[in-house]
Amino acid sequence: AERWTEVPLAPPDAIFQLTAAFKADTHPNKVNLGVGAYRDDNSKPWVLPVVKKATEILVNDPALDHEYLPITGLPEYTSAAARLVFGSDSPVITEERVTSVQTISGTGANHLGALFLSRFYHWNDKRVFVSDPTWVNHHQIFPLVDIPVSTYPYYDPQTIGLAFPAFLDTLKKATPRSVFLLHACAHNPTGVDPTREQWGEIADVMLEKGHFAFFDSAYQGFASGDLDNDAWAVREFVRRNVPLLVCQSFAKNAGLYGERVGALHVVSPSKEAAVRIKSQLSVLARSEISNPPAHGARLVSLILNTPELFEQWKRDVKTMSGRIIEMRKELHRLLTEELKTPGNWDHIVNQIGMFSFTGISPAQSKALVETAHIYLTSNGRISMAGLNKHNIRYFAESLDKAVR
Ligand code: PLP
Repeated sequence: AERWTEVPLAPPDAIFQLTAAFKADTHPNKVNLGVGAYRDDNSKPWVLPVVKKATEILVNDPALDHEYLPITGLPEYTSAAARLVFGSDSPVITEERVTSVQTISGTGANHLGALFLSRFYHWNDKRVFVSDPTWVNHHQIFPLVDIPVSTYPYYDPQTIGLAFPAFLDTLKKATPRSVFLLHACAHNPTGVDPTREQWGEIADVMLEKGHFAFFDSAYQGFASGDLDNDAWAVREFVRRNVPLLVCQSFAKNAGLYGERVGALHVVSPSKEAAVRIKSQLSVLARSEISNPPAHGARLVSLILNTPELFEQWKRDVKTMSGRIIEMRKELHRLLTEELKTPGNWDHIVNQIGMFSFTGISPAQSKALVETAHIYLTSNGRISMAGLNKHNIRYFAESLDKAVR
């Protein structure tokens, strides 16, 4: 008999399918608002000037070789990455209570963090709570390592904002020591973040119930343009001693999508526990990847550890976040002032980061794709990075038509 007849055909990834449909479309005004990657004002990928500089330094280094990195990654990269998230003067850094391991970008950090918890967390109820909705891959990453996924209310379609009371209620009712996945900033896909006061209340309940915070940080600096500001929630949870880990990605904030540069940081109560955790993470990393890739980690290490490059990077991060914030303001202005589009559009400027939940229905989203050649996911999420001064008016007018 023929082999593999029992392997069922899996559905294609919705986002990548959308990109393929966009590429095949020949309409001159087509717009891609599906992709979660930064684009410049001409819809082109943007290589950060700091990355160009760092690449030049790296490739001209006569001592550069292609040896294996250590199993847990390039040490000067992982330590600088930890300082970036927690702040150099954080007690978890000065007391050596954080275990940092280089990962295959943010996805690999989520995977390794999940795998570590699956093996070693002291579970009362083995599952992870993720926001409803969340980055769709969370729904695949955790079950892969035998952690079932439950959701907590997050997005309220009525207000196009945070479903805060229902979120808190789920935190309160969950079995003690439950694991909650939290987006550190710039929530994907909604663009809705808790306020500082709300983060404080979340931390209070988590401490009271002994819950564990699984922070996913894929957009530090990319959201507000300020690296410290975007790390505020993580640092506040550390300050309050909420047990936690952080998954970190340099895909978006350094524009290193394809280089797969990330890190997992697990915070421990003691230096001695951090050493034991590192030994186990090494075993897991060894069996999966042996050693992480070198190029991207070397670039980020150079950027984080060279003061002039670090300053340049901060400017580059501001360029990206600034353009996105400008697009939010312009879209809001076009809809509310020029076109007088029915409804309230304040959420466009209140949301933060790469994505915005427009609040439009699946039917309206479909109409935008089919009649206006504007590609977006059926949940009404748009990538703000796909908008620019050439296409924003066309988008606003098409959106206006779709909702009337
Ligand atoms: N987590 C969130 C919330 C994301 O939005 C993304 C990327 O879209 C990632 C993690 C991981 O991305 P990467 O593996 O490219 O770092």
